[in-house]
Amino acid sequence: PKENKPMNQTPLSPDTFAPLFHAVFRANHLESYTKPAIVDKFRALTDRLLAVNAVMNLTALNTPEKIIPLHYADCALIADRIPAGATVADVGCGGGFPTFPLAILRPDLHITAIDSTGKKIKYVEETAQLLDLANIRAVTARAEELGRDAAWREQFDLVTSRAVARLSLLDELCLPLCRVGGALLLLKGAAGLEELDEARAGIRRLGGGEAVGETLTLDTLTDREARTLITVPKVEPTPREFPRQFGQIRKRPL
Ligand code: SAM
Repeated sequence: PKENKPMNQTPLSPDTFAPLFHAVFRANHLESYTKPAIVDKFRALTDRLLAVNAVMNLTALNTPEKIIPLHYADCALIADRIPAGATVADVGCGGGFPTFPLAILRPDLHITAIDSTGKKIKYVEETAQLLDLANIRAVTARAEELGRDAAWREQFDLVTSRAVARLSLLDELCLPLCRVGGALLLLKGAAGLEELDEARAGIRRLGGGEAVGETLTLDTLTDREARTLITVPKVEPTPREFPRQFGQIRKRPL
């Protein structure tokens, strides 16, 4: 859509990007993530995102004023919650969220970005290369198909996902990929706790344990928005009959 196009394609100036980035991250108690090398990577990511977004629909957010709080700080809320050196699957990564913020903030992680749309995965792959983020690999696939494949099933220490599906569906996409002893770490909006109540029985059937929902506040500098972080420990192997085909998951959530 036309209104998605940035006003111009000239690279962002460090003089305007960095102060904005600092202000947003400071407002969200993320100041430990504002070292110059980190800010520089996010600036390069923003340049790339805005340039590609002009020709391909990656995000509805089309200015640094929106992208920094609503994509970067939002995803950074989970950055310090992932164990050192973990293998991470990002289910439905789209334009690379939370894949890119996590890869920049946590170079120790090994992130596999998964999306069913090939051109988004191509963008993620090329952008990772451009930004020199060697800790990202990207795969075009449906999560529930990988979950049925022995090479992928229960292989990840941590599975994350943002803005992909209701929790009562998302649990069946994510839990099969997570190893026993690992966890899901899911970014949800204001209604996350209600989604969790609705999903608890299904989570148990899929091998999940007692899930915890936490309400956080995202400060956008113009507003304060509620977010829910949902942590689901994987305590038992997922029964063989799961995940089902997506049509079944959608029609009859567990
Ligand atoms: N996570 C990104 C974010 O927060 O900006 C993208 C969110 S976008 C609204 C949802 C993405 O999930 C789309 O790119 C879609 O292709 C992908 N997706 C939906 N269902 C999927 C599935 N079953 N397996 C893999 N990807 C899926």
